[in-house]
Amino acid sequence: MSDPAPLSYRVTPLRPEAHLFAVELLIPEPAAASLTLALPAWIPGSYMIRDFARNIVSLAAEQAAAGPLSVTKLDKQTWRLDGIDSDGAVVTVRWEVYAWELTVRSAHLDRTHGYFNGTSLFLRVAGREDRPCRVELLPPPDPDLADWRLATSLRRDGAEPWGFGTYRADDYEDLIDHPVEMGRFALVEYEVQGVPHAMALTGRQHADLDRLSADLAPICAEHAAMFGELPIDRYLFLTMTVGSGYGGLEHRFSSSLLCSRKELPASGSKDVPAPPDKDYRRFLGLCSHEYFHLWNVKRIRPRVFVENGLDREVHTRLLWAFEGITSYYDDLALVRSGRIDAKGCLELLAETITRVYRNPGRLAQTLAESSFDAWTKFYKQDENAPNAIVSYYAKGALAALALDLTIRRDTEGRCSLDDVMRALWQRHGRTGEGVEERGVEAVAAEVTGLDLDGFFDHALDATEDLDLVPLFATVGVDMRWRPASGATDNGGVVDSFGDVEPRPDIGIRLQSDARDAMLAVVLDRRPAQRAGLAPGDQIIAVDGIKADAAGLEALLGRTIIGEPVIIHAFRRDELMTFDVIPEPAPADTCELRLLDAASGADDAALARRSAWLASSVR
Ligand code: ZN
Repeated sequence: MSDPAPLSYRVTPLRPEAHLFAVELLIPEPAAASLTLALPAWIPGSYMIRDFARNIVSLAAEQAAAGPLSVTKLDKQTWRLDGIDSDGAVVTVRWEVYAWELTVRSAHLDRTHGYFNGTSLFLRVAGREDRPCRVELLPPPDPDLADWRLATSLRRDGAEPWGFGTYRADDYEDLIDHPVEMGRFALVEYEVQGVPHAMALTGRQHADLDRLSADLAPICAEHAAMFGELPIDRYLFLTMTVGSGYGGLEHRFSSSLLCSRKELPASGSKDVPAPPDKDYRRFLGLCSHEYFHLWNVKRIRPRVFVENGLDREVHTRLLWAFEGITSYYDDLALVRSGRIDAKGCLELLAETITRVYRNPGRLAQTLAESSFDAWTKFYKQDENAPNAIVSYYAKGALAALALDLTIRRDTEGRCSLDDVMRALWQRHGRTGEGVEERGVEAVAAEVTGLDLDGFFDHALDATEDLDLVPLFATVGVDMRWRPASGATDNGGVVDSFGDVEPRPDIGIRLQSDARDAMLAVVLDRRPAQRAGLAPGDQIIAVDGIKADAAGLEALLGRTIIGEPVIIHAFRRDELMTFDVIPEPAPADTCELRLLDAASGADDAALARRSAWLASSVR
């Protein structure tokens, strides 16, 4: 028997000014009187129902002999074609997709560039998901855009490198796993273990491209060395640069990133290999994160993701492992690859710890619950989210840190989380066999020989805080809590712990982009909530003095702990008065300190720290 004929998709950025992609699908050998087509409701890696089909603006089908086919819409994302001559010729389906959402998970088209994920454009033919696909990517018809190039990790099948033309995919799952960028982008190319890697940068930027490749290559090499295998033959970062934005989405051979211009290294800095500033460090952390996913979640996958499709939510308690462990390693790889030093790494950890501990929601939701409910809670956060939920990214990273340090301590350095990740890779990544809901826990216990039931019960299924202080001590790091010194204080690393007097505090957060003092969050069981203030209230005066967003912190800072202040605020258009009694700001800010032999770290702790932060590259 010959191989089944491929499905042929053709994409044209037909009318950039109207943000419309035209897509054509040729289905050979229809072999049925009717066919069903559907678009996914969500995109892997972003756990929210997005109903991409709402952007399909027209759809029609025909068969040469039979002429136009009857099209019936069955639900929000499914169409049925009827009246097909089953022995007849190719069925052609044509549709248009509106693309005007500039995110890593959707599609965007104008006269500056085109970008799409297959989940936004490619209809699935029910029952033919395993068929290979031929993908013809055509340039925009407008001659003014004749200099556009194309970047995708789809396998070339005739197209020139960075060119329009023909590509191919193994099956539908592969087809929708390669985002496509078209336009005028800058390119950075480098190799990791002999495998070609590239970053295509779209949007106005004047980044130091040499610096980028000099930093990205060792980060990627670090991840590959840690897993012991680089299971790809190409890799592509698609980076969209904007004034302000942040996001990333992982794929098997590529990732899409959205970053702020200021996060890219300024050009002309390459002769001075200074450590990355905070903005650039954040961008490198994002690249590191998405690249780690090529193992963890794209190949090592929850079993429920392997077994279920994309038409409705798929719940798993494992996102703490796929996002939390990835978040732990994204920063760790920066220090292991020599991009930042130990202090820089601790600074990032202190900020993550602070972020988790500032939200009362960590006491209301477990990590496993946060994972399971990602669809309706983490991805649909409202004003009460800080009181009601915990992030499986941030607390998941802390659970990974605690797990790593626990394993290192209890096996006397014989094992680490690295060994657990390598075992997950061997058993689930290489084989494609999905991870059971408690599979990460089981592999960790088996690989290390430790009884980790108590650890996982506490970390994943309880809301009590992780006890990080004694774990940090095992690697010669001193940790303490102190009150925040101001709104921009997110904790960090210090040489010595100084005294910080708690400021008067009422437990609120303001909307970040408003000039008025609009309450975004009213923290649970804190003075503002007790006095009756609510999210959305606009504070206009504190003890009779006019307040706006810029001045409120200073006004509240001059109140006296324990003495009532009168706050005037509008709720809707009604002026209200609240008697608020400021409390001392809570000790919710994490500070870390690297110890050396002189300041109390013993040799074992210093050796453990070296092993923890050491590169895996041999
Ligand atoms: Zn991620």
